Amino acid sequence: MTKGATLKAILIEQGGSRQKVGLAELPRDRLPDGDVTVRIACSTLNYKDALAITGKSPVVRSFPMVPGIDFAGTVEESSNANFKPGDRVVLNGWGVGERHWGGLAELARVKGEWLVPLEPALTFAQAMSIGTAGYTAMLCVMALERHGVRPGSGEVLVTGAAGGVGSVATVLLAKLGYAVVAVTGRVEESDYLKKLGAKRILPRSQFSEPGKPLAKEQWAGAIDVAGGQVLANVCASMRYRGVVAACGLAGGMGFPATVAPFILRGVTLVGIDSVMCPRDERQEAWRRLARDLDPTLLDAMTERILLEDCVPVADRLMAGAVRGRVIVQISDE
Ligand code: NDP
Repeated sequence: MTKGATLKAILIEQGGSRQKVGLAELPRDRLPDGDVTVRIACSTLNYKDALAITGKSPVVRSFPMVPGIDFAGTVEESSNANFKPGDRVVLNGWGVGERHWGGLAELARVKGEWLVPLEPALTFAQAMSIGTAGYTAMLCVMALERHGVRPGSGEVLVTGAAGGVGSVATVLLAKLGYAVVAVTGRVEESDYLKKLGAKRILPRSQFSEPGKPLAKEQWAGAIDVAGGQVLANVCASMRYRGVVAACGLAGGMGFPATVAPFILRGVTLVGIDSVMCPRDERQEAWRRLARDLDPTLLDAMTERILLEDCVPVADRLMAGAVRGRVIVQISDE
């Protein structure tokens, strides 16, 4: 086969009762339909990618699948009027890496309407240090702002703070002047979290056992990646008219709560979905990320790996042993 006729990718295949996953060399003509082909510079390993690669949850909707819910790269071919070869672009969500081949590959072919032009201030590596986790953290911050939480309102809680969404949320909130209280199951990461801007650290154990319907009023805002019992306890400890942005289920899909915080304290629970988020809001989130994030802190929270490392690192991520963000360097750009 001639050079450029194939691409390297992580491929998940159905193999009897267990899925098979590994690095593969695929003919380029197996790329799915789409009006823009992107040469990927960087992708990332998000929680959802780790679920897909390990098969721990039915994230993948059709097989064979190239996982990777986000990527940044350069347009190579386009029949879409909004993009031309050489444009720098970023993609998050839209079912990419779940229903449509994704970013853990040298090339992706996608619908142009899923792409966002990469902010000029960001390199590919910085964009992917942010990745879907960071873009989701920004959507959470924007939701708190939309519902009236301001730096002077009081302390803002971030759960799963040493993970991807939590690390970026901590950095963003601290930079914007909020007093951030970081909740973590890894108190040994306290120095890391303080470096990101957390004022105080609380152990996750304080939130993981069943609690009262209403606890002491403490937080003006909260960003929760855990769900489950943690989210229920966060809601119970919000101040009057506090706002919780809920985006994750790292601690469980359930929500063993009562309505007390909502009907007695006027607490607002805002759901955050990054996958189908409308384009305007995505672009606003990326503009804000380019402006409000300190690049040196991005470096401090990022581990770089290669495509061939994705499978073992996905196991580490599922075990809660990865700190911050993991970017997958695909080309030298
Ligand atoms: P990471 O794996 O990087 O971080 C998750 C963090 O959650 C861990 O680092 C850990 O933080 C904490 N955690 C792990 N297990 C538990 C548990 N049993 N109970 C409470 N907390 C726990 O994942 P991401 O940051 O990429 O994603 C976080 C969550 O957000 C995931 O559920 C993901 O699916 C979701 N998500 C949702 C999006 C959306 O569109 N709604 C988009 C992106 C992510 P620590 O060690 O500090 O306790």
